[in-house]
Amino acid sequence: MTEFSSRVEQVSISGIREVFEAAGEDAINLGLGQPDFPTPEHAREAAVEAIESGKTDAYTSNKGTLSLREAIAAKHERDNDLDIDPEDVIATSGGSEALHIALEAHVDAGQEVVIPDPGFVSYEALTHLAGGEPRPVALREDLTLSPAAVEDALTDDTAAFVVNSPANPTGAVQSVEDMREFARIADEHDVLCISDEVYEHQVFEGEHRSPMEFADSDNVVLVNACSKAYSMTGWRLGWVTGSTERVERMLRVHQYAQACASAPAQYAAEAALTGPQEPVREMREAFRERRDVLLDGLESMGLECPTPQGAFYAMPKVPDGWVDEVIDRGVVVVPGEAFGDAGEGYARISYATDVETIEEALEVMAAATDAVR
Ligand code: PLP
Repeated sequence: MTEFSSRVEQVSISGIREVFEAAGEDAINLGLGQPDFPTPEHAREAAVEAIESGKTDAYTSNKGTLSLREAIAAKHERDNDLDIDPEDVIATSGGSEALHIALEAHVDAGQEVVIPDPGFVSYEALTHLAGGEPRPVALREDLTLSPAAVEDALTDDTAAFVVNSPANPTGAVQSVEDMREFARIADEHDVLCISDEVYEHQVFEGEHRSPMEFADSDNVVLVNACSKAYSMTGWRLGWVTGSTERVERMLRVHQYAQACASAPAQYAAEAALTGPQEPVREMREAFRERRDVLLDGLESMGLECPTPQGAFYAMPKVPDGWVDEVIDRGVVVVPGEAFGDAGEGYARISYATDVETIEEALEVMAAATDAVR
């Protein structure tokens, strides 16, 4: 008998944090996965008002307040042309918990979950914690996920596949055609598509579409959050939506693991979703400018990098030893293999920082590139 569950023994603490710690306090940190802007004022004020008027003294409904779920449904109608019943929404503790309850509710012991490689670290870990087996699928040369490769990876044991667009760690945005294909795969193979859309608003080229729009079956579960769109990572507020039956099953996990999402965060999220969307546009434009600065710099070093069309990450191919050299010289980037075996030979660079800092970091990267070539 072991002291710990075999599920938890299959998971280790993400290597990303170790990289930050190794780099020291004065390092320029291009490793972060969060926007560097303040939460919009109207969202902060709504939370303060809710706290001061005593609205946050009690649990909310397990699914979240009705007014927040109505705001989420209205958001999906406005931005995604999706008709969602507020009863089919669960407000969660960030997109992280939404992914967790989606996998817990749908994956049986030994079943497989097809995930992008490289991909966001939680997909593999949460699959293990649900008792499942991650089945990584290497991305295409342009760092998008190929629907054909996903279809090839399906077996009789596949419970779900994960689509993430725009993507962490690559910044890749899937085409509308790909999203249609993912919906077709979910329909035809009767397999669940978990669509992680937390970077929905950070799209610079192309457009964000959800496989949920195209599916004829109820085989798509959509995960989203206020974290990246409204610079609210610290508030821990996301949501998951899907068919009534799927939501009811996910609620069983959420109810016992979480009870409800934080009440002050729910009020802030409602204000963020229903209030002026200007801050979202401003952040997107700032990210676009930073991306262009970073890409120009990488190109001038001769590093190959598919143009990231969304999120706030770039993922260039880098020479052997590059990541260590860059970190030794005081700039934190994340080695690609932190996101899966197929990430080897790449680095994730986050540009959630100001242009001056990116320019400073580029000088360091250029020197590091010369040193390792
Ligand atoms: N999905 C992706 C692709 C992410 O990159 C992240 C966070 O980095 C999350 C989900 C989780 O977001 P949250 O902070 O809302 O839990």
